[in-house]
Amino acid sequence: MRIKGAAARSGRDPEEITLVAVTKTVPPGAVREAFLSGGLRSFGESRVQEADIKMGALADLDIKWHFIGHLQTNKAARALDLGFSLIHSVDSEKLLLEIDKRASGKGVTQGVLIEVNLSGESTKHGVPEEALQKVLGAARRAGHVSVEGLMTIPPYEEDAQKSRPYFRRLVQLRDRAREAGLGALSVLSMGMSNDFEVAIEEGATMVRIGTAIFGSRPA
Ligand SMILES: *Cc1c(COP(=O)(O)O)cnc(C)c1O
Repeated sequence: MRIKGAAARSGRDPEEITLVAVTKTVPPGAVREAFLSGGLRSFGESRVQEADIKMGALADLDIKWHFIGHLQTNKAARALDLGFSLIHSVDSEKLLLEIDKRASGKGVTQGVLIEVNLSGESTKHGVPEEALQKVLGAARRAGHVSVEGLMTIPPYEEDAQKSRPYFRRLVQLRDRAREAGLGALSVLSMGMSNDFEVAIEEGATMVRIGTAIFGSRPA
């Protein structure tokens, strides 16, 4: 498989890389099939309402659901109720504190990643890199969120090599935050269908792959 190939090329153990199969727009039946026949266990959704429906339809399967899309603050409570293994897309201190509050109310600790906007594009979600340490500091004071690492989405490029500097930068920021005592941040969620091999070469521990598994989505 291509994940194993990329891991081997970069001298990494493929076991340390989690494939999150992105199922937005994919009907529950196809997700079930991917679980039963494809052996996939982690699935990612980017909208709360769509996730809600699929999680209900597939509640009999032992799926690890990941939330990977932009989460509006007013949907945080519902996302917490649904119970995601990991929320990849915490893109502001405000959202982080809201998740902490909701998790506290439920008596749980929610695993999250901080999404970093490395391109500076204002159309993209994510914490600007200058603000990352501040958000990580706030997370350490919050009692009911556990920041397990960082996530990024580079600008789309046909040529995957153009994503490489963004992946390197995320690793650097992680290392810097680690040195500052802001957590181990062992998870790096980076790489999609078009660039996951490059992301693995640079240190990704989670790749989020949709179209390369399920085919292209309706426009
Ligand atoms: C849709 C999506 C993916 C998967 O994209 P593909 O190009 O289909 O692999 C990964 N991450 C996020 C945040 C997404 O919204």
